[in-house]
Amino acid sequence: MIDLIRLKGEMSLIEQENGIFPAVCPLDCPDTCGLLLHKEHGKIVKVTGNPEHPITGGAICNKVRNMTERVYHSERVLYPLKRVGAKGEGKFKRISWEEAVTEIASRYKQLITEHGPETILPYSFYGNMGILSVDGMDRRFFNRIGSTKLQQGICNAAGNAGFKYTMGFGGGTIPEDAAEAELFIVWGGNIVSTNMHMIPIIEKARKRGAKLVVIDVHRNRTGDRADWFIPLYPGTDAALALGMMHVLFDRELVNEAFLARYTVGHEELREHVWEYTPELVASITGVPAEDIVKLAMMYGETSPAYIHIGNGLQHHDNGGMTVRTITCLPALTGQWLVKGGGAFKSNGPYGKVNSEALEQPGLRPNPEARSVSMNQLGDVLLQLDPPIHALFVYCANPAVVAPETGKVEQGLLREDLFTVVHDLFITDTAKYADIVLPATSTFENTDLYTSYWHTYVQLQEPVIPAVGESKSNVDTFKLLAKAMGFEDEAFQETEPEMIQAALQAEDNPYLKGVTYEALKDRRFVQLNVEERVHYLDRLTTPSGKIELFSAKLAEAGLPPLPTYVPLHEGYDGQRRPDQEAAYPLMFISPPNHSFLNSTFANVPKLMSLEKGPTLQIHPEDAQLRGINDDDEVTVWNDRGSYVVKAVVADKMLPGTVVSQGLWWEGGRGRQRANALTPSRLADMGGGATFFSTVVDVKRN
Ligand code: SF4
Repeated sequence: MIDLIRLKGEMSLIEQENGIFPAVCPLDCPDTCGLLLHKEHGKIVKVTGNPEHPITGGAICNKVRNMTERVYHSERVLYPLKRVGAKGEGKFKRISWEEAVTEIASRYKQLITEHGPETILPYSFYGNMGILSVDGMDRRFFNRIGSTKLQQGICNAAGNAGFKYTMGFGGGTIPEDAAEAELFIVWGGNIVSTNMHMIPIIEKARKRGAKLVVIDVHRNRTGDRADWFIPLYPGTDAALALGMMHVLFDRELVNEAFLARYTVGHEELREHVWEYTPELVASITGVPAEDIVKLAMMYGETSPAYIHIGNGLQHHDNGGMTVRTITCLPALTGQWLVKGGGAFKSNGPYGKVNSEALEQPGLRPNPEARSVSMNQLGDVLLQLDPPIHALFVYCANPAVVAPETGKVEQGLLREDLFTVVHDLFITDTAKYADIVLPATSTFENTDLYTSYWHTYVQLQEPVIPAVGESKSNVDTFKLLAKAMGFEDEAFQETEPEMIQAALQAEDNPYLKGVTYEALKDRRFVQLNVEERVHYLDRLTTPSGKIELFSAKLAEAGLPPLPTYVPLHEGYDGQRRPDQEAAYPLMFISPPNHSFLNSTFANVPKLMSLEKGPTLQIHPEDAQLRGINDDDEVTVWNDRGSYVVKAVVADKMLPGTVVSQGLWWEGGRGRQRANALTPSRLADMGGGATFFSTVVDVKRN
């Protein structure tokens, strides 16, 4: 309890030169760990997991154990900078905050006069998950301006929309309950690298006999641990789930009482899935028919049976329908009622704060302002009419992370585009900026964190002073608001006041009892999870039940019943291309172990652990192309190309290649995986379709 005792002292955490202080991991990771920062002579010298945090349990990933390298990185931006070279060249000169803010405000005022406020576009995502950092003063500022709105569909949008069509409410099984499962199906997620605290939960259950089944297009670190790894063709997961449903109905493994009480559409679904025989599904997915039967029977006969729906399978043309379909499985078996059963996609809705109080949409002079998808930034910058003339990027690095980065770069090169980037580094995006503003790291900020997996809300208070002249997002947007002449009270609020407003969410019973004072005292406070007993009685679908048949989907022009819809760009087992096809391989670009999107891809230790960008290719595909392990190869399609090292590996079905991790151009290689990925939107939620991509590969 050393940290908490110190907290109750008179001095702020910043003022205390030595000691161990609590913090929160800010990364876009479901685990949202409680951290301990070890300070000596005013500097953080070590980052460890908080042993008192019930989910963290003292363990953190290697990425964040090396966080001090990022915080004290020699290339951190310390002062505001103004571009002096060509766009993309990365040449800047130091200026003062006053000069920077004055220039931004005067350019914005001029652009608003000439083109209207929608000529300004904010571009942000969750490079820092702090609620004040990305959903607070920034939103107020751009609302007050009346900027074009940004649809933030790059990550979970399709899957969350699919889950909601089925369940209404977005939350699912919480980790403490999942611990009771006898069967864990991890579907489309490499949780060893992206949700590591789920692993001890599974391993503890396995010691008493529980089984781990991993379904994925790529045998990654999680697949390597499985009792049973099931590989399939990319984008065919919904077909596999429908084949399982066929077997569940056929073998009378469904829970009729649950179906009658809690669902609508079960009779239509029963009829519908007859066509998805194991043989048909095998021909689509590449999973043998006997394995489909075995998997369905294992699922139907094991209780509690828990499904962990990963992020990967939603990044397809059919991503929303895929998640919707998998979400129906626990309804067929009644597992939503069993502690430890059900499914997890995102538990973010349990901790939903009062976003209206935070973002203050009422400040907006033009509520009907246009909105654009962050997945289509290239087209937005190149084609939108009337055009965007000012781009403000923060907590994001779209030159590396957005789809079709070739177009994004072309857009960023526009001479008539005024670009501001607020970041800790000269990222590949910042190289195109007219003004770069230095951003604080999370350990220099006050912020509020919820998790989209576990149920603890956490408070971060600054542990070290701002490095250089860096400023938090809250302070930056307050300064800009002042320079713009905005006198609204919204821009006077302090961080504690914003946190208090965020936690006053009358419509969220799970937040009852979570207050700023309690957080200040205890650092992390659990949501009111007792409310989950009412879970199935509070579904917010139009029928109030689990919608196996969704009239809303039909209204949206999508199949009302769970359905396998082939990809626009890609192949399933029935549509295998011959080798004469222009692009006969499917290209999947999931995260690697040491980076988080493009974060950490400039930290030397983590870069060296990853060794460099690679492309995993099946031995059959490699042999056809004369490719050997460690050969330099070019991967290309109509959108672009890049050069990587080949790894010949039997880790996916033939016809699929895998490139893990997003490397900066300034990193070890010039890999730009997203030069190849499409900016098409998924079937639901405006989601991204990174993995519905075809390519070819040749040895250099
Ligand atoms: S990235 Fe995830 S696992 Fe690693 S410290 Fe942060 S929250 Fe924990």
